[in-house]
Amino acid sequence: MKQTKYIKKEISYPNEIYKCTTCNNEYNKEDVELNWQCPECDEYILIESYDEETSDITIFIRKRADQLKKGNYIHYYGEMYQVVGVTILDDKKLGKIWIGLKGFTRIEVDVNECVNCVP
Ligand SMILES: [Zn+2]
Repeated sequence: MKQTKYIKKEISYPNEIYKCTTCNNEYNKEDVELNWQCPECDEYILIESYDEETSDITIFIRKRADQLKKGNYIHYYGEMYQVVGVTILDDKKLGKIWIGLKGFTRIEVDVNECVNCVP
């Protein structure tokens, strides 16, 4: 199995649970944190988080910033935004990606950064 060692950076939510809805398996964080895809079938892992303070349940997937597509919805600091453009900056040393968000602004993330997306 090919594992890309990209993702060591992500915004974590409390009490995360990791599931593949295709295989019906639940995983530990160590099993999926390299690429946030199912070790069996490569589907994106569905992440459920339960906030004990607010009783909020959040369900999302994690994608590497360069896997985002126009039209995806992402969670960003508690708000949800639609992606209108993804620009991988030419300067490889910088290793940055611009993500344009509808009605908001452009955010800049590292290439090894993961973004929480609406499944
Ligand atoms: Zn699976």
